[in-house]
Parts: sequence; C-alpha cells; structure tokens
Amino acid sequence: MIDQLKKLTGLKVYESSIVSAGDVTYFLGRRGVEKLIASVGNGGIAGEKVGELNGKPIIVGPTDHANALVIRKSLPWTSPRCLGLIKSVGLGDRLGLATPGHIRAVAGSGLGVFLAQQSIREMSRTQRTPDGVMDSATWGVLQEGFKQGFGSDADHLQTFEDIDRTVKAGFTMFTIDPGAYVDNDADSEPSNVLAEKVAAIGLSEMETDTADLTGRYIGKTFNMDGGEITFDEEILLRAAAKYGKAVVHVAKMFRHLKSVAGGPVEVEISVDETETPTTPAEHFFFATELKRLGVEWVALAPRFVGRFEKGVDYIGDLDAFAASFAEHVAVAKALGPYKISIHSGSDKFSIYPIIADLAGRYVHVKTAGTSYLEALRAIAATDPDLFGEILDFARERYETDKATYHVSADVTKVPPADSLKNEQLPGLLDDFDARQVLHVTFGSVLTADDGEQFGARIRAALKADEEAHYAVLEKHLGRHVKPFSISN
Ligand SMILES: [Zn+2]
Repeated sequence: MIDQLKKLTGLKVYESSIVSAGDVTYFLGRRGVEKLIASVGNGGIAGEKVGELNGKPIIVGPTDHANALVIRKSLPWTSPRCLGLIKSVGLGDRLGLATPGHIRAVAGSGLGVFLAQQSIREMSRTQRTPDGVMDSATWGVLQEGFKQGFGSDADHLQTFEDIDRTVKAGFTMFTIDPGAYVDNDADSEPSNVLAEKVAAIGLSEMETDTADLTGRYIGKTFNMDGGEITFDEEILLRAAAKYGKAVVHVAKMFRHLKSVAGGPVEVEISVDETETPTTPAEHFFFATELKRLGVEWVALAPRFVGRFEKGVDYIGDLDAFAASFAEHVAVAKALGPYKISIHSGSDKFSIYPIIADLAGRYVHVKTAGTSYLEALRAIAATDPDLFGEILDFARERYETDKATYHVSADVTKVPPADSLKNEQLPGLLDDFDARQVLHVTFGSVLTADDGEQFGARIRAALKADEEAHYAVLEKHLGRHVKPFSISN
C-alpha cells in the first residue's frame, strides 16, 4: 500500500502517519519541503483529487488550519486532552517544527507530555497564534503516529482575553499567571506597612476578613508529611500582603475559564516570574486561600530559591534548594495533591535528580526556549552562514532583548561569527554566554524583516534536513526526560 500511495500521489510518505478511521485512510506526505495531508476516501480533507485507489478518491491538501480541524475531529488522538496528575514534561515549540523530535525525546519514558505549549507573550513575539500552535502539534503528532495522548498548555495567561483566545483554539490546560498582582516589596517591609497593605487589599474581595484570617492562621501549626508550617502575625501579614491580590485575580480567572470552557479543562497556577522567592508558608497560604475560593488546579509553580536563568543550569546552593523544594512538595501533597511545576525548567541538570527524588510523581517540568537553541544547533551544523548571521544579529540585540528575562550573560564574551571557523559554531550552543544571548533574542530573530528574514530562512533550513533537527531535540530533551523517567 505504501508504494502505491507514493506512486499515486508523488509524495514522500511519512509511514508512521498512515492511519485509518472508518473507511478513510489518512497520511502525511511531503513534496520538496512542503508537508501535505492526504486521504484515501472522502474524509473531509479540502484539496485536490490526484487519483483513485480501490475505487476511492485520493485527495491531497495543504496542512492548513481547516484541514487540521478535520484531522482533530476524525482522529481524536491528534487533539490534546487533560492529563491530570500524571508526572509530566512540557515541551514548548517556538518554531512550530519540533513536535516529532519532542515525541521521540519522551518515547518510552512513561511521562505525560504537553506538546502544544506557548505563552501569549511568546506567541506575540514570534507572530504565532493559538490556532497555529495547536495545528503544529496536531501535524507533528500525526507524522509520528503518536496515539497515547498529549496535553496542551496555554501558558502564562494574564487576562480574560488570553483565556478566551486559547479556549477557542482548543487548549486543555490553562496556566494562570497572577504575577502582576504579587507584591514583591512585601518581602522585606516592616509589619506596620504590611498591615496597611493588607487593609488596602480589600479582604472582602478575598471573601474573608481580618478576624477570619487571624483565626485560621495565627498561632496554628500545620503538620505535613515532611515538615510543619507555623504562622505568627508577621508571617501571615507578609503572605497576605504579597499574595492577597494574586489570590483574588486567580479566582476571577478560574471562574471565567469555567464559564467559557466548552469541555474538560485543567489549570496550572504560576508565580514563578516574580522577583522574590515564594516561602513554603506563603505557598501554603496562597494555596489554602485559592482552595477556599473554589479554585482547582493540577500544578503550581512557586518562585524557588536560587536563580532559574534561561537556557542554563541552576545557579545557587543545591542544599538550600533541596531543603526548600522538599517543603514545597510537602505543601503540594497536603493541600492537593498537585504537581509542583518547574518553569524555566530546561537545562537545570544539577537539580533534576533532587527534584525527581523529592517530588516523586508530583512534578511537571516545563521547557520552551531550549528547543529553539537546539534548532540553532542543527543550523550551525547544516547552514553555518545562516547561523553566523543570526549570531551577529543576536549579539547586537541582546542588551535590549534581555530586559524581560532572567539572564546574566556577558555579550562581550560571545565571539562574532567571522572570528570562528565553521566547525566551531555548534560548540557555541554549549557555552553559557552564547546560549543566553541566542535564547532571549529569539523574538527579534524570528520576526526580523528588514532583509534578514531569519524566521523563514530558519524554518526552511530545518525543513530541508528535518531529521537532523529531530535528532538534536531527541538527544538534548532526552537528557531532560531521563532523570524523571518512570521506566529508568
Ligand atoms: Zn514560567
């Protein structure tokens, strides 16, 4: 049958993609660098009839949004679903070409995987849309014939509009980010200032009052498996001043999500992108108040101690991290259980064994930018001239683009392209400073339009040698997956 399909369509057929639903057979093929969806039989694909097989029409059409909708309807495993409390990794794909490599990286690990995962911020920086992110995942899942199911993560949602846009595109997990409502100053202010702040929050919005809060926390010790948490007045005031408004915002976002979602949804809550670490007591307070307001979630991302910089290993004291992480896990088990979500989770190789050991099954590791870096690694090998141009452009952009990211690279330590031999280029992807410079400039690179057209050229280079791209992803993300593997 494969030979016949190749002959009749003239396509290079992705053999793993051939699948039947009812009396229609679907498969993905390729002509040049263009991917096409094909069906034998009338399965709703919009395209051109190119022939017949056993009396059924063979239709070949574009891998566009309309056909992605048809595929998701006909083959439900190409749609995301809720993964619940299964131990999981999230693999964001900024270019929309990484899914087959991501699937290969998690194969056999026993982990749940989130494939369509992008924050609204990154979508706008890459000029992508929620539909586009979802469609890329669908096509990649079909290409690999990956039928075990996958999650999707509308990441770092801040407004009702963010929720509406991603609900519409069929996302199933929604990461609510109330970071803008977290008061970082409360971390160091004296009690009298904290008391004023708590009074100003409007506790009625939290559906509570001072007497209620005081009665529930002060002088109480909460015993948990692996530790205990005690509140005095100052700890309570600090937690309420710092996270009170965030509690209110998450509750509003959650209720809005529930009112607009058409099917099952799951929620993550993230406060990782705030300036000051979340103490275990603050985590306990935040989660307790959210529960009281009826919010339900499968994962929560505190802001941990130490530095989680983009694209590089953990920076900080490993023992201090382990001690604090153990307490966060204890809170998550006592109040959930729910998963502790590790944001900026890529390349944190020194703490993966600690996290895997302490969290057990209750962990979600989220990565995104590291896949873009691996794409650049593939390009450094296959198209050194293009890589050199991107490198020099990124060196110019770094000081501006780093503003909204946690990075500390020194751009003067990153050599310009003309000072390096071609065979030295891939090695830059193993260098601390070069990784961060390339990491945070992705938006500028992908949307540069004054002659460079890097976005189109990067995608063309990756499509021209897609197996080289998948191979670097499988290798690098495989290293992320392995410490958490259920079968290792
Ligand atoms: Zn994050």
